[in-house]
Amino acid sequence: MVDGAGRILAAAPFAALQRLHPGEPVQDLRPAWILPGLVDLHAHLPQYSAVALDGLELLPWLENHIFPLEAGFADPEAAVPAARLFFAHQLAWGTTTSVAYLTVHQEAADRAFREAEACGIRAILGKVMMDRHCPDALREDTAASLAQSAELCETWHGRDGGRLGYAFTPRFAPVCSMDLMAGLSREAEKHGAWIQTHLSENLDEIARVRELFPEARDYTDVYARAGMLGPRTLLGHCIHLSEGERAVLREAGATLVHCPRSNAFIKSGIMPLRQWLAEGHRVGLASDVGGGPSLDLWGEMAAACDQSKQRWAERRAQLRRLEALDLDADARGRVAEALGLHAHAPITPVEAFHLATLGGARALGLERTIGSLEPGKDADFIVLDPRAADPLADRAVLRPEEVLSRCIYRSTPGMVQAAYVRGRRVHGR
Ligand SMILES: [Zn+2]
Repeated sequence: MVDGAGRILAAAPFAALQRLHPGEPVQDLRPAWILPGLVDLHAHLPQYSAVALDGLELLPWLENHIFPLEAGFADPEAAVPAARLFFAHQLAWGTTTSVAYLTVHQEAADRAFREAEACGIRAILGKVMMDRHCPDALREDTAASLAQSAELCETWHGRDGGRLGYAFTPRFAPVCSMDLMAGLSREAEKHGAWIQTHLSENLDEIARVRELFPEARDYTDVYARAGMLGPRTLLGHCIHLSEGERAVLREAGATLVHCPRSNAFIKSGIMPLRQWLAEGHRVGLASDVGGGPSLDLWGEMAAACDQSKQRWAERRAQLRRLEALDLDADARGRVAEALGLHAHAPITPVEAFHLATLGGARALGLERTIGSLEPGKDADFIVLDPRAADPLADRAVLRPEEVLSRCIYRSTPGMVQAAYVRGRRVHGR
């Protein structure tokens, strides 16, 4: 049940709600399910037209496919159709909260915000910042980058009762000076805005950071020195983190954003998701379009499960091989420890769904507003027809978690019949 302001008044099975609130106007959507809207914590709006171009690793992929494309947003009008399509496709897949990077262009960023405002999606966006080691067409003056980002933040952060928000968006350390990163940390703090960037995605990227910042202990330390790490910081990828880096990130309460299909697509590696969760990190899920091939977050949930199972199976095989060696128990334990052969259980579909909903909301500090269907929260929800993912229409004999598993592994366009943000229909028939 939703009130006139778009908040959830009550949430319960259909029959129970009817009994408790007789006489209220009813829309009977059965056998569809009503679920919380999905939260995509990391994607690049301008890169949508470059999805699924295979063959390269991160740094050459950026130089060949992405930078030339992003340069096109110097024309602010380019952002209008791009943003319209991007948000429409996110909503069609059930993503009601979109956290996304734009390009370095202030005007284009402003246009993208206007599209988000108009289409009704909940969005946290940011103009990309980069002031060195990138093509001339995209390289910014440090002070101008900070001033333009602050101006966008002042215009858009908290707009429409907090439906829109601003994230300061340094692309990643290899293209940012320490002055830029320290400056944006101060601005984000001042405005209560988010910070989003990339961390520890690719081995060549990590090596480049080491060259560029020899004074820093490691990649994470670069961001720590700049004052960028805190509970409102979203860090894309976080695959190859050392124990020391993880301790710093946990202490800061920063979010590690898992982008499984992007990590596979540009050959970055497999994030040890179970281990990061077991260590107590905040973790969310994301499509990372255009590194990731689709805005379908169900597919990301499936990939998160698949990669976690693959990791588990590989480690189990390695442990077997280790057992076959002529080593005493002590030595075997030390080798297993050194190689990180912990037999963590794989992620389940229910856990992946949690990451894509309430987990994402918690990562943003918005768990009192979105992420689940509870009285008092905003009515951000989707109408999902499980029959669309079901080859045999035998839902009656499946448990709810089995139906959910099927929707995750067999997501299809059209499975999400409608999407609502604050009770307003923003997608659907
Ligand atoms: Zn990214």
